[in-house]
Amino acid sequence: MRIVLVGPPGAGKGTQAQFIASHLSIPKISTGDIFRANVSGGTELGRLAKQYMDRGELVPDEVTIAMVRDRLGEDDAQDGFLLDGFPRNVPQAETLKKILTEWSLGLDMVLELVVDEDEVVRRLSGRRTCKKCGRIWHVDFDDKKDDICDDCGGHLFQRDDDKEDVVRRRLEVYGEQTAPLVQFYADEGILVGIDATGPVEEVTKRALSALRPLEK
Ligand code: ADP
Ligand code: AMP
Repeated sequence: MRIVLVGPPGAGKGTQAQFIASHLSIPKISTGDIFRANVSGGTELGRLAKQYMDRGELVPDEVTIAMVRDRLGEDDAQDGFLLDGFPRNVPQAETLKKILTEWSLGLDMVLELVVDEDEVVRRLSGRRTCKKCGRIWHVDFDDKKDDICDDCGGHLFQRDDDKEDVVRRRLEVYGEQTAPLVQFYADEGILVGIDATGPVEEVTKRALSALRPLEK
C-alpha cells in the first residue's frame, strides 16, 4: 500500500502515522523527521534544512525530492510506505507521481486529516516529542506533568518551530502551498478526508476504516 497523509501542521499526521504504519506493516516516512535527524546529526543537509525550518518555510524542492527519492528506493519501502509531510506543494506531488510512474507504481490513497485552525494551534502549542524514540505527546491531552516518555523513558522536548511566531508562518505556508494538494489529489480520484478531531484512538479507527478497502 502506498499512502500519503495530508493536513495542516498539528493535524495529527505524525501521531496517526505511527499507528497506521505499524498496523499495515509499512514504513512511515516523515520528511520532517528525516530533516530533524540531519539537524541533530550536524550533517550538511541538516545545516541547510535548519535555515528554512527555523523560519517555518519549506526546504527547497530539489533537496527534499532527492532525499525522498533515495528513501523510497530503500528495501523496506518496496512493498509500500506511508508518507507524512511529503508532498508539501503541487510541484512535489507532480514529481512524486513521475518517480512512481517511472517505477510502474502509483499512490493508492491520500488521506486528509481534517481539523480546524484553533484546534491545530492548541495541539502545536502543547506538542512534545521524545528525543529517544520519537513518540509524540501533548502536555494537556496526554496529561504530561514530567518531561519523560512513558514508552521508553527518553526526554521530551518542544520543537523550535512550535514557538508561536513560527507556527503562524507554518500555517500560512500550509494555506498557500500545501492546501492546494487537496484539490490535486481529489482530481486524481484518490483523496479521502476524515474528521481528525476527538480522541487519538477514534481518529485511528476512522483512518483504518478509510484504508480498509485497500487491504487484501
Ligand atoms: P502533525 O504531524 O500533523 O504536525 P502531530 O501528530 O505531531 O501533528 O500532532 C500535533 C500535537 O497534537 C501533538 O502534541 C499530539 O500529541 C497532539 N494530537 C494528535 N492527535 C490528537 C488528537 N486526536 N487529539 C488531541 N491531540 C492530538
Ligand atoms: P513537519 O515535521 O512535517 O512539521 O516538518 C517540519 C519542517 O520541515 C517544515 O516546516 C519544513 O521546513 C520542513 N519540511 C518537512 N517536509 C517538507 C517537505 N516535503 N518540503 C519542504 N520542507 C519540508
